Amino acid sequence: MRVSRNNMLLFALFAGGIVLPTAILSFLSFRNIQNETFLAQKTLDENRYSFQTEVEETITKEEARILDETKSASMFLYEQPQSLLDSENTFFKTVEGIDAIFLFNKGQLIYPDISSRHFSASAGFSNATASHVEKQNFQQEFTDDKMAYQMRAFRQTPLQAFFETREENVQNLLGLIRLSYKEKNYNEALRLLKILESRPHLAGYLHADLTRAINLLHFDILVSQKKHKEAEEYCKLILSQFSHSESIEDIPSAKFFFESAFTRILSFEDLSQKDRETFWNLRENFNRQLGYMDILSQHRDLFNEILYDDISTKEGILYKSNDDATFLKMSYPLLSGDQILIAKINRDAYLARLLSKIKIVTQSWKGIPYSITNKNNHVLLGHIPDSTSALSQNILGEAIQLEFTLYEKDLREIRKESRRRMLLMYGLLSFSLITVLLGSFFMFRFLNQERKLLSMKANFLSSVSHELKTPLTSIKMFAEMMARGRVVKAEKIQEYSNLIGKEATRLENLIGAILNYTRMEHGKSAFHWERLDFSICAKKVYDAVEDIAVEKGLTLHAKIDPNVFVIGDYTALYGLAQNLIENAIKYTNAPGDITVSVYNEDNRAVFSVADTGIGIAPSEQKNIFNDFYRVGDEMTRSTKGSGLGLAIVKRVAETHRATISLSSKLGKGSTFTIKFKKVD
Ligand code: ADP
Repeated sequence: MRVSRNNMLLFALFAGGIVLPTAILSFLSFRNIQNETFLAQKTLDENRYSFQTEVEETITKEEARILDETKSASMFLYEQPQSLLDSENTFFKTVEGIDAIFLFNKGQLIYPDISSRHFSASAGFSNATASHVEKQNFQQEFTDDKMAYQMRAFRQTPLQAFFETREENVQNLLGLIRLSYKEKNYNEALRLLKILESRPHLAGYLHADLTRAINLLHFDILVSQKKHKEAEEYCKLILSQFSHSESIEDIPSAKFFFESAFTRILSFEDLSQKDRETFWNLRENFNRQLGYMDILSQHRDLFNEILYDDISTKEGILYKSNDDATFLKMSYPLLSGDQILIAKINRDAYLARLLSKIKIVTQSWKGIPYSITNKNNHVLLGHIPDSTSALSQNILGEAIQLEFTLYEKDLREIRKESRRRMLLMYGLLSFSLITVLLGSFFMFRFLNQERKLLSMKANFLSSVSHELKTPLTSIKMFAEMMARGRVVKAEKIQEYSNLIGKEATRLENLIGAILNYTRMEHGKSAFHWERLDFSICAKKVYDAVEDIAVEKGLTLHAKIDPNVFVIGDYTALYGLAQNLIENAIKYTNAPGDITVSVYNEDNRAVFSVADTGIGIAPSEQKNIFNDFYRVGDEMTRSTKGSGLGLAIVKRVAETHRATISLSSKLGKGSTFTIKFKKVD
């Protein structure tokens, strides 16, 4: 490939414009990547400090917010119904993370009100097992035989005498009540119940559980008798008794009674709107106060501890925890005067509240290794890396203590990342280099082809004008000779006229080829498609050129089968056959043979032209179909032509979806074969 000055210039531009900037950029990127490890470490150190501060501040803020909410919720508690019997509704505020709030004023528990009486009773809290055993005994009394006997005995005994007997008679009475109830003898059951209930000294024999069971039975009977109003009044009466009771053991069984009674009452269809509200509020008030009481009774020791501990209350806040619970105490200066607030923290909810806030912070500080663990070393957020050591360790939170640890960043990770980027960089660089090289290669090839095409076009023009001029000169010369009357002999005139005719035909052919070629440029649309017998077309060409071949001393053979149908354009196919046969004649020296064959083969229609001519060198075989291409040097070439014949053949074949093949040996001859799609 010859490199022209223009190409050199282009190459220089290429190198300057693409390769050089790419090289500089790559160099800078490499340096940047190498610095990355250092930079990453530096920014990490800076970020770590900010991250730590932000997490600490978040926790402090969130805890302060919880305290604030607790304080404002306690304000609402002052408004709550103080007495259990108070049914007015007041707004109540809950705090996420806090289970219960207890209010004290001057050492006196003022909310929940119920607690003050029961809490001050120093007896132990509910002893569920004892009452359970008693309940079982009670149930065992009700074997039917025994009861029938007792019933008889009772009816025979004067009532007065009955009550003055011992404790077991109370049990008997209970059995009778139960039996009457079972027999749906409600009035009798009620009568007996009232007797039992109106004698507190008898009720004293009963355990709290049993008392409430009796109350519930009474209530049930009233409901069964549809005495709803009476049932409501009865429930209120029991509530009033309960609120004046001193016994702390009463609470779980009372809770059971009131829960059932309130639910039943609220389901009465004839309950007025006002009463519904009353009972609804009573239930809310009762449940909340009892719920708080329950909490208090469960954590009585811890509660006492925090209540009487005032060592570190100068800030007004004190936290105390044991394995089961965490309490907080708020006092002066956060609260005024002698007020004290004790709240039970719901550890799970409290922790979830803190963690959700920390999570938001960690989301904006990705890439810093940290962990947040509880006191059991259980990881709550982040993770503990296995290969690096801890940099700092802080305790976060007042109520629930969390361990916040920051770790050294694993430098291997950063290195791995830079290596990855480096590889990517190498890849990109190689890719752009290959692209540049390939681009240059194809560009040079393209330029070279363009150059060749230009020179071929120039050759074509000179050869075409030469071709056009030669026959014209002969025609002009013979015509002038005859016009001047120099030729008188009849045979001479005939000879010259023949020569003029031949030259005119040559001209016509040449112009035909040029026109054909231009027609091809317009593509398929210029064709007239039809089903035609190719053998007829080939035979016509054969007949037309036979004389020329014979004149040149060549032997022409025709192996043309009839009925070889194809779909095509007659003129284009005629031109194709003519070009191939004329080339065979042109490039075969006498004596020689030319064989034209047309036949059907499988689903193909085959046309081939074989000659024993000069042949085509293998290196030239793929070029000869190019536009204007002619083998050899213009100076030394003996044949005349345009270099368009085979280009036209190739285009016609392509538009007809036919294949061309050439087999040729230099000095031995060539065979051109065209295979069309056969049609029936
Ligand atoms: P031209 O007008 O030169 O004949 P073509 O396109 O028909 O142009 O042919 C291109 C070249 O292919 C010719 O110049 C010739 O060298 C070669 N060629 C074509 N047909 C034959 C053949 N039958 N035998 C040998 N060479 C051939």
